[in-house]
Amino acid sequence: MKFPLIREVASTDIIHVDIEDSISKAMDVMIKHNHRNVIVKDDDVYKILTVTDVLKIQNDDFDLNLPLKNLLLEKIPTIRADANVLETMEYLNNPMEYICAINSDNTPYGLITHTDITSHIDPHTLMDNYRLIDFLKIGRKMKIVSKDALISSILPEIIDGSFDHVLVVNDMKPVGILTTKDLMLLIKQKERLNVKVSKFMSSPVESIDRNASIKEALEFINKKHYKRVVVVDEEGKIISVISQKDLISLTYSKWATLVKEYQEELREINSMLTSKTIEYETIASTDNLTGLYNRYKFSELYTSSYASMIQRHNSMSLVLIDIDNFKKINDTHGHNIGDKVLVEVARILLEALRNIDIVARWGGEEFIVLLPTADLDKAITIAENLRKEIELSEIDIVGHISVSLGVAVVKEGEEMSDVIHRADKALYLAKNSGKNCVKTEEDV
Ligand code: GH3
Ligand code: MG
Ligand code: MG
Repeated sequence: MKFPLIREVASTDIIHVDIEDSISKAMDVMIKHNHRNVIVKDDDVYKILTVTDVLKIQNDDFDLNLPLKNLLLEKIPTIRADANVLETMEYLNNPMEYICAINSDNTPYGLITHTDITSHIDPHTLMDNYRLIDFLKIGRKMKIVSKDALISSILPEIIDGSFDHVLVVNDMKPVGILTTKDLMLLIKQKERLNVKVSKFMSSPVESIDRNASIKEALEFINKKHYKRVVVVDEEGKIISVISQKDLISLTYSKWATLVKEYQEELREINSMLTSKTIEYETIASTDNLTGLYNRYKFSELYTSSYASMIQRHNSMSLVLIDIDNFKKINDTHGHNIGDKVLVEVARILLEALRNIDIVARWGGEEFIVLLPTADLDKAITIAENLRKEIELSEIDIVGHISVSLGVAVVKEGEEMSDVIHRADKALYLAKNSGKNCVKTEEDV
């Protein structure tokens, strides 16, 4: 879901008058442009004159030829034209339903109303599943009058209650609507106001069923360019009037909640996947018994180590290790004890090796060690050290054991199997030389 910028949403056909202009001129401009409001420029401050203000003025018997500066006009909130529509959220709680979009140099860019905001929110992403009936409590400021009520008698109530419309009903069924805008026009045209509302109301009233979704209501509003929807029950009787503003705040807060929930859900799934991945990777790369890397993982690590050996022009050596007379250990103490010996050898190797070295279980009672940066001499030293560590270790039940080792140096351009083959030959030689010793490819 992409939210547009204020400048893409604001209507730029704003009308404005100066604070020195007369009230009458302001009304003329509003009627001529069919606008419900006009911006009043008071130096650097933007104020607004709305149809409701005009009605109040009329009611107070104000001289319409007086300049606007005689009125107590509301300051209009401003927002940067390059702000995101989402930033208008906080304004939705503001009783002022207009926001002035301003350029970076503080000149007015345009005006934004709630209609502008809703028509730029993608209704598909919104409340498909929430029905108006679920939120009827938010419908407020509903003024209902009978079709026979006199306009003059309801005018003070409209002004006192700051209603911007009255719904005209007959047997609780909406039959018409009279807005403050209509009233202003009547006053300007000097119509008599002691007539029934039914004479000047707009009729019929289009209503929406309380079982409609919020999405349907918003689409209805957008399509008809209404400011509010009249919600009726199954019998067509009026239940509430929900303004577009209510629907937007509701939708935004619901949307925000959804996004938050969705994010949390995503985070959970993500961390679950990460731990599962780590788990599976570990299972796939380690040897069950000893916890060392397995053959598969060793090959993978060999490839990356080989690449960095080439890149850095380093040496790298490989050692194959085979436990001496392991069959005998199994035969004497049983397979389980044999297993424990393998675990113990793995532990000794890990402990004796450098951090950069890579040790894996190659199979059975064979281990393989990759020694990055080690040339033949260094590799012999390390291998000899491993041999000694094992020879000197006292293993539970079994006592002392030994290993034979074959060393080879990795050559540029060769396959892993080539160097292993040479190390294996060296190991074979070690076995044939009495075991418990280190032999290299050069000894072969
Ligand atoms: P050499 O000194 O020549 O290496 O003799 P060896 O007895 O160590 O060699 P050989 O390869 O003949 O025997 C290896 C034995 O290791 C055979 C097999 O039963 C045993 N073995 C292989 N894998 C495991 C294992 O996971 N656990 C145990 N306990 N024994 C294993
Ligand atoms: Mg063996
Ligand atoms: Mg062996």
